Parts: sequence; structure tokens; C-alpha cells
Amino acid sequence: MPRVVLSIVLFVLASSACSRGASSSAPTAADAKAFLATVNETTLKLGIEANRAGWVQQTYITDDTEALAARTSQAANDAGARFAKEATKFDHVDVPPTERRELTVLKTALVVASPSDPKESDELSKIMARLESMYGKGKWCPEPSKLESCKTIDDVTRIMATSRNERELRAAWEGWHTIAPPMRKDYERFVELSNKGARELGFADTGAMWRAKYDMPPDAFTSELDRLWNQVRPLYVKLHAYTRLRLREKYGDVVPANGPIPAHLLGNIWAQEWTNVYPLVAPPNADPGFSLTDILKKRNMPPLDMVRTGERFYTSLGFAVLPKTFWERSLFVRPRDRDVVCHASAWDVDLESDLRIKMCIERTADDFTTIHHELGHNFYQRAYKDLPVLFRDSANDGFHEAIGDTIALSVTPEYLVRIGLLDKAPDMSRDLGLLMTRALDKISFLPFGLLIDQWRWKVFSGEIAPASYNKAWWDLRLKYQGVAPPSARGEELFDPGAKYHVPDNTPYTRYFLADILQFQFHRALSQIAGCKLPLNRCSIYESAAAGQRLNAMLSMGLSRPWPEALDALTGTKQMDATAILDYFAPLSTWLDEQLKGKPVGW
Ligand SMILES: [Zn+2]
Repeated sequence: MPRVVLSIVLFVLASSACSRGASSSAPTAADAKAFLATVNETTLKLGIEANRAGWVQQTYITDDTEALAARTSQAANDAGARFAKEATKFDHVDVPPTERRELTVLKTALVVASPSDPKESDELSKIMARLESMYGKGKWCPEPSKLESCKTIDDVTRIMATSRNERELRAAWEGWHTIAPPMRKDYERFVELSNKGARELGFADTGAMWRAKYDMPPDAFTSELDRLWNQVRPLYVKLHAYTRLRLREKYGDVVPANGPIPAHLLGNIWAQEWTNVYPLVAPPNADPGFSLTDILKKRNMPPLDMVRTGERFYTSLGFAVLPKTFWERSLFVRPRDRDVVCHASAWDVDLESDLRIKMCIERTADDFTTIHHELGHNFYQRAYKDLPVLFRDSANDGFHEAIGDTIALSVTPEYLVRIGLLDKAPDMSRDLGLLMTRALDKISFLPFGLLIDQWRWKVFSGEIAPASYNKAWWDLRLKYQGVAPPSARGEELFDPGAKYHVPDNTPYTRYFLADILQFQFHRALSQIAGCKLPLNRCSIYESAAAGQRLNAMLSMGLSRPWPEALDALTGTKQMDATAILDYFAPLSTWLDEQLKGKPVGW
């Protein structure tokens, strides 16, 4: 499932409406109101411009469209920084609760805050551009004298996914990590400068600024994540033990009987999703007995019909049909005559009703599910369209991805029967294969989704000093994931830099939250829909009651703290990872049987 950042450009200010001149009198509530009115209006205007430029750039890639899109997003970023700073002027002004929340949203919208010293601010943007470009241009060249031997991240990804040769995997793993050591000095300076900017906004450091988005004190949010992780950890440890067992059969003593799994053997350069090793760990007789991909191909189902089917899922819940412009303006198939970004995404170009998806649809089960996922973003976007512009976003940054994935969980065999794609749902004894595949995607991801920011928050706070960047990274990977590097990793290296989101500086906790929330949403909606089947077989298709509760949450957007949005759908204000345990219960029981008398843990 694509983990993409939404294409909504919010939090833009290019206006200088707020006085910066002679007046030295204290700001008033009326000033705050005027400020926010201008902000909402300008955000809408610039957001639409950036979306239009971004859409054209991604569906018609040329040097010119790239330049135009870069200009609009640069304007957005620059203005966003000024914007957050202006909002702090009203910290001690008595304003109505809605306006207070709008100001808070503004202040916590930044991912990085530039220091006010122009020299330092300039240095920070140069460092950030350099880090991103070091990653983007990163290549592993096995034979440095031969340029044609160089491998990009795509090549390395392919090797990690398909090779079963330990030496080849190790070479690719070590090779890719050579792109990162040159980032180390820059990253250290980046931490200093971005912390300085965050302190000017009143946050303890950049990590505290990131955590401030979550409607609770930063430390409380950290312990909330620990609590969730401890709920699912026992299941992860079982999946880990079983996978280790089977990898040891394949690779021998290089995989320890009861220690951490070598990080290069899990089918992914970061060991973050293990779906590629499914053939090595597949339960016997776990074939579901049908292939949706084959069915779609046999019926020659046109891509547009696949999208119509997805739309029908949402209208069956009570949502209105998609606007005519959706069908006119979306990109559904790869054009023959030009380059496009095929990575699936959902758009709301005018932040109101100009909904679109951008995909290069193939007749596959994956794409069929992805359509349901992307439309989830679109229906969320439309549900909150009447709120002030600053609130047109998900309840927290985990919610948007979670909604798409929640709906994708309803693409079950029973659903396929109901829409006439399948004659008969296979017997439930055949579910182990589907559950194992999904566990290798979702369960294996959880500790990774958590640890990236555990490392970064400690780096920003100074708890992890530059002298132990790499050691701390591997300590966390051992603690959470139970993986170890295939070779010694000293402080001359910088292994976190080999993961895109670190040099790119994209917060990562949202992906952990999305993984937890989607199962909690799915369980709550399935109960509302009256599903009596095992949770992994429940689909909320055609349940108006589930649709109503879903809409109650979606239409709140970002206007209320996320626990209230969660409550509107699930009836509880607390995140709860036990839905994952319910969903994977059949697999968990099966793993217990396989692991009898076998080592578990590391
Ligand atoms: Zn998505």
C-alpha cells in the first residue's frame, strides 16, 4: 500500500497584512480574528495554486512544469515559517476556542523552523537541500571505475526483494549504506540549527515541536506510543521467531537460533516490511483458492470500471457520488505519450470539490485495493470541505492514511462475492496465507514505524549525542525490531541516513499511528455493521450505519482534538492496538503451534 504524503498544501501565508510597522501596542482579539481571516483566505488561494502546479507537474513531467511546481511549493514553505511565527504573537491574547485551535494548528504545522538569523536560516536551507540531494543522487557502485555498475535505490530494492543469495544480499545492503556517511556532519549541524528555530517558537527542540501536534503534552504522547507498542509486541515477537526459524532453514548459521535476525535477509533494505520473504515463510496449504488478479484479467475489466466499483463501495455506505469533474480530470491509466509520476495519490485540488486520483491502473488485486484506499482520501477531503481552511485536514497525521487502509481491509472475499467478482468465498481454513501476507506487511512494520522518531526525538533533545548516532540507531533497531546489522557498524558510518525520511526530514510516527488506527477503525465499523464473522472476514460494504459513523468522524476534519474524532467513530477516546490482535487471532494461534518448544525473542 502506498505510504504517500497527501498533496494538500496547507499552511501558506504570503500576505503581510499583519502590521510590522510603527505600532508597538499589544495585539488584541480583533487582531487575531483579522489575522486568521487573512490566513484562511490566503491559504486557500496559494494552496490551490500549488495543487494545480503540482498536478500538472506529476501528470506532465517536463523541466518547465518541475520549475513551476518547485516555485509554488517554495513559496508555501517560506510563508509557512513566517506564518507560524506570527501566530505566536497571540499566545497570550484571550480568543474564542475555535480561533485558539486555529492558532495552535498554525504553530505546530511546521516540520522545521528556521532560526531568525538570516545567515543561519540560509545555512539551514542549504544543508537540508544538500541532505536531500545526497540521498536522491545516492548510488552504490560495486566497481567504482565502471559507472555502469552503479546501482540506484530501485536496483537495490529489487535485489533485496528477489535475491536469496546471502553474499549478494549482504553486498547490496552494505553497498546502499555507503551513501550515508557523507551526511553525518551536515545532519549534526542541521539538528543544531533546526533546534534553534524551534526554540524561537517556544518549543524545547524540533522533536518536541513535532510531538506538539498531537493534542497532548509531548511526554504523554511518548508514553502513549509505548503503551500501544506493548499491546502488539507479543504478536510481533511471535512473527519474528517464526520468520527467524524459517530463515535459518534457508540460510543456516548466519541466522542465529535465538538472537536478532540479520537485517539484510528480510526482503527489504530497512527490514521494514517483510512481504518479499513470504515464499520462505508461507504456511502450508494456505492458498486462498482464487486469484483476484486472474479474475480481473479474465473479465478484461476496464480500469474505469474498477474505479466505479470503488466508488460504489462508498455510495453503499451513504456517501454521495463523486463529482463529474472527478471522472474528467483524474488520471487513471499511464499515458502513452509522456512521462508521469505513477505512484498512486489522491488530490483535492481546490480544497473543496475538485477531487481526483492519479494512478496508472493495471488489472491486479493490488490496484483494485489501492483504488479503494485512494478514494478513502477523497471522501475524507470532501467530508471536511465546509470547515475553515486551516481545519481541512485529518484529525492527526495518522488518520488520513488509516482511513484509506481501513476501507482496503473491507476488500474481503465476502465483498468480492457481493459485487459479483467471485462465486463463493473460500473456506476460512484458507485464511492463513492472506493473514500471513498481511502480517508481513503490517505487523513487521510496527517497530520500524516507531523507532525512526524514537531515534530522532532523542537526537533533537540531545539525549543521543553526535558521538553515538550510529550506536544509538542500532541499539533501537535491536530493542524494537530484533534485527542486527550484517557487519560491524562504527561511528564513522551514519546508517540512519540510508533511510529516505531521515535526510528528507519527514516525521515518521504517522505511519505507526496509521497502522494501529486502521484496525481499530475496522473493528469498530465492523461491529456497527453487525458483522459476526472473524474480523479479517468483515466488510462494511452496504452498511449505512457504519457509513454514518464514519462520516461523523471524517466531517470533523482537524477542527477538534483527535481523541474526540476517534470517539465519534469508535466510542472511545483512546487508541487501542488490541484490534490488531483480534484481526490476526487465527494466525497468532497457528504461530503458537509452530513455535512449541522453539526459541522466541532475542
Ligand atoms: Zn494513502
